[in-house]
Amino acid sequence: MSNLKGCCLCGEISYQVTSEILNVVNCHCNFCRSHSGAAFSTYAVIPFPSLAIIHGEEYLSSHEIEEGKKHFCKKCGTPVFNQNKKFPGLLMIYHGTLENRNEITPMINLWCENQLEWINRISGIPSLNKGIEEKNA
Ligand SMILES: [Zn+2]
Ligand SMILES: [Zn+2]
Repeated sequence: MSNLKGCCLCGEISYQVTSEILNVVNCHCNFCRSHSGAAFSTYAVIPFPSLAIIHGEEYLSSHEIEEGKKHFCKKCGTPVFNQNKKFPGLLMIYHGTLENRNEITPMINLWCENQLEWINRISGIPSLNKGIEEKNA
C-alpha cells in the first residue's frame, strides 16, 4: 500500500493508490487539452487495479469518447482519473487531485508535437505570489 491519497474539490470523492506510481507525465496532446480544459495535463500513471475509492463512489461519474473515458465528481466537476483504450492496464490520475502533489514531479513530456508554443516561456512572464488585486470593485 502506498501512502498516495487524493480527493476532488468538494471532498466527496477520496481515493488511495495501493501500488507505486509507474510514471508522472505531462501530456500535451489535443485530446487531453480539450478533455481537461487546461493547456496541458499532468497525470500520475498507476496500474489499473491500484485505485481504491475510499469514499464517495456514488459521486463518480464518467464521460466516454472513442479514445477512452474521463471519470469526474458529479457534485463539483473535478476530473479525477482517465482511462485510455490504448492502455487498458493503466489509469491516469489527475495530478491536481493528489494530496502530496508537490512531491510528485513530472518525469516526461508527451505529445510535444502538439505542445502550445508558449509553454516553454512561462517562467519569463511576470510572476506574482498571489493573484491580481481587484481595483475599484
Ligand atoms: Zn467533488
Ligand atoms: Zn494526452
